[in-house]
Amino acid sequence: MECTTIKPGTNCVFMKKTGCSFNGGACHPVIDSCEGCGYVTEQATGNFCQLYADPASKWVFGRCNFATHAKSEVQPSAQRVNPLKASKRSQRQGV
Ligand code: SF4
Repeated sequence: MECTTIKPGTNCVFMKKTGCSFNGGACHPVIDSCEGCGYVTEQATGNFCQLYADPASKWVFGRCNFATHAKSEVQPSAQRVNPLKASKRSQRQGV
């Protein structure tokens, strides 16, 4: 249903005929970690996330998985080597 509280005009799963059914009756504002994210939208009552009603919960266990401004800290691991193929390769080369 279309939101009539914080983000008027946007479709929201929390909006019911009786009003916003989200915890607290409205979306929660973005937190400092969301600064610079492409999903932050400015509304008359503050800045909110286009995707989540409670942005703080997306940062509880680390980086928000939809954050457009923060890169993942996971480094790509070294290329895996198949031990069987490596053994055959070394036999062919006479090592
Ligand atoms: S997608 Fe994640 S980082 Fe971006 S505004 Fe929403 S909660 Fe914040």
